[in-house]
Amino acid sequence: MSGFDYDLFVIGAGSGGVRAGRIAARYGAKVAVAEEYRVGGTCVIRGCVPKKLFVYASKFAEEFEDAVGFGWTTDKVTFDWATLVENKDKEIDRLNKAYLRNLEGAGAELLLERAVVEDANTVRLTSGRKITARYILVATGATPFLPRHLPGHELAITSNEAFDLKRLPARIVIVGGGYIAVEFAGIFSGLGVETILVYRGEQILRGFDDDIRNHLAAEMSKKGIEIRTQSDVSLIERSGDGVRVTLNNGAVYGAGQIMFATGRIPNVLGLGLDHVGVEMTPHMAIKVDAYSQTAVPSIYAVGDVTNRVNLTPVAIREGHAFADTVFGGKDVKVDHSLIPTAVFSQPEVGTIGLTETQARQGFAKVDIYKSSFRPMKHTLSGRDERTLMKLVVDGESDRVLGCHICGPDAGEMAQLLGIAVRLGAKKSDFDATMAVHPTASEELVTMREKWTG
Ligand code: FAD
Repeated sequence: MSGFDYDLFVIGAGSGGVRAGRIAARYGAKVAVAEEYRVGGTCVIRGCVPKKLFVYASKFAEEFEDAVGFGWTTDKVTFDWATLVENKDKEIDRLNKAYLRNLEGAGAELLLERAVVEDANTVRLTSGRKITARYILVATGATPFLPRHLPGHELAITSNEAFDLKRLPARIVIVGGGYIAVEFAGIFSGLGVETILVYRGEQILRGFDDDIRNHLAAEMSKKGIEIRTQSDVSLIERSGDGVRVTLNNGAVYGAGQIMFATGRIPNVLGLGLDHVGVEMTPHMAIKVDAYSQTAVPSIYAVGDVTNRVNLTPVAIREGHAFADTVFGGKDVKVDHSLIPTAVFSQPEVGTIGLTETQARQGFAKVDIYKSSFRPMKHTLSGRDERTLMKLVVDGESDRVLGCHICGPDAGEMAQLLGIAVRLGAKKSDFDATMAVHPTASEELVTMREKWTG
């Protein structure tokens, strides 16, 4: 390095930025990281972590009910929202400090300010200070989308605010059909909030396997969540302490809150990227190549701001690969195929690989194996809930192309199935694997009959 203040300036201390900064510093680079809100980013502060804690909280309601069939008496069970929020905040503070320690321990300098790009090698902080760097990494993440054209949109909350509500509403309208909408519907419903999910598409979880989408929607409905597909909100008005929500089909709901989970937009606004020549995709994400390099050679971007696959482990991999390549002398590209994912809905969804529809588009012969069954626990709990497991197999090579599960611990299963599918496992390998009994996942190695519809 010569002539620059730093080797690397990272904008955004979230999943991707922290990993990149830490690894680059370990390679001996002089690194600064700017963060305008809280170190840890979306995942730690208002995403994956608090979300999963809330999912745990909301599941206890059913656990208490289920326990009765096993001989427990659970008469005086109560829930206190304020305690949950306070304990969640303590855990986030702990993680926030751990992230800070990790960054500083690696030798990176942290600047708690907003940064924008001034030119190919210069950033400007809110304080006015200008800093030069040989490389700039934009890792600014994304922000919830709110439809600003909608009358009354300012009365709506997003996932950002949902984590810190002063009190739980008696009823909530959640708009959206993606994983965040579906997860929050499960959280609020589990915590005793009457929940209405409004989605303009035909079925929730667009992009997932159709059987899983239908199965999850049916199970969520059984839990009392009202799912209104092919519907949209046309008006939000204030009503007492809450809101009055009108749908485009004329239906009207009074609710304590309305929450929008209708997508997230890359954080590029006001970053100064347009006038330095960084190119954007049609969806206003930063356009990068396989090495996360933008059209300006000294500027890279990783994570949600590039809108490739918007998940924490992906942002972390991209940040790590960037640091390995630019500062570690390696040649590392991130493979964005075959990413296992979970939706922490209730019941949970876990998936890896192609959906049936995708497989039928790309393969001449596709075999489907499906099993729908009542989890063993519910033989005594009496709960009317079923698990669905589905394997999508290339009928010519016998290779497993996709695995899709909707049921308890589906996310845990997806992680392990991901290894098998990446290794190119065949259906015959699944069959040859001994079952673990009694588990739900044994179904994955004992399905023998092809689904004929
Ligand atoms: P972020 O983690 O968002 O970090 C970006 C950081 O940049 C932020 O801290 C922001 O304050 C900062 N910043 C922005 N602009 C500037 C600026 N100009 N100057 C300084 N700082 C700036 N993913 C999963 O894998 N599993 C899940 O279960 C999961 N659940 C989620 C639940 C919710 C409710 C949400 C919203 C997201 C969830 N995600 C989940 C997605 C995951 O959080 C993101 O994919 C991940 O955080 C992206 O990391 P990132 O580094 O790109 O951005």
